[in-house]
Amino acid sequence: MSKQVAFLWMIVLLLCAVFMAFAGGEIEAQTSVKAFPDDPLSTEEDRKFIRRAYELARNAAAKGYRPYAALLVHEGRILAEHENTVNQSGNITKHAEVNLLGMATEKFSQDILSKSTLYTSGEPCLMCCGLIDRTPIARIVYGASGSQTRKVYGREYRGIPSKELFQRIKPSLIVVGPVFEVEGLKIHAESMRGARR
Ligand SMILES: [Zn+2]
Repeated sequence: MSKQVAFLWMIVLLLCAVFMAFAGGEIEAQTSVKAFPDDPLSTEEDRKFIRRAYELARNAAAKGYRPYAALLVHEGRILAEHENTVNQSGNITKHAEVNLLGMATEKFSQDILSKSTLYTSGEPCLMCCGLIDRTPIARIVYGASGSQTRKVYGREYRGIPSKELFQRIKPSLIVVGPVFEVEGLKIHAESMRGARR
């Protein structure tokens, strides 16, 4: 490699580093809550479907709903999607997972459910973990953790991390997360600012 090419590469890398530093700063400014790194057990397919969960959560927020969404995936295909409908229904149980699993358990066989993965934009709460426990679903993947999401809203986290909970009540269930947490937390920070306006 000639000296000129090497020099050009150095300039490109330097510009990338400066851009990343600014981009990182912007995320920090939007939410000062630190995001955890991705769960090393998450796969490329998990990242794809968590992106979809975030897209749904953003759409929900744009409609004035709470920014949470869930989807069910069987053999790489999305079977069903749902968002949180607490705000518009006035029903506090209408979390995205409840809406999704209520419908999915009526529509799909136990066999299909047992081979499906549940993706959620946010770590399932205690109520939703209880419901998941009652289904044959054997794997769940969440985007943003419950503890960091609570911090975005300035609230104390008093829940039980889903990995810890399922380790006790259903050790066979695989829990993966967080995945792209920085993106998930950003959705909550933006939604909170939108609600204040
Ligand atoms: Zn829930």
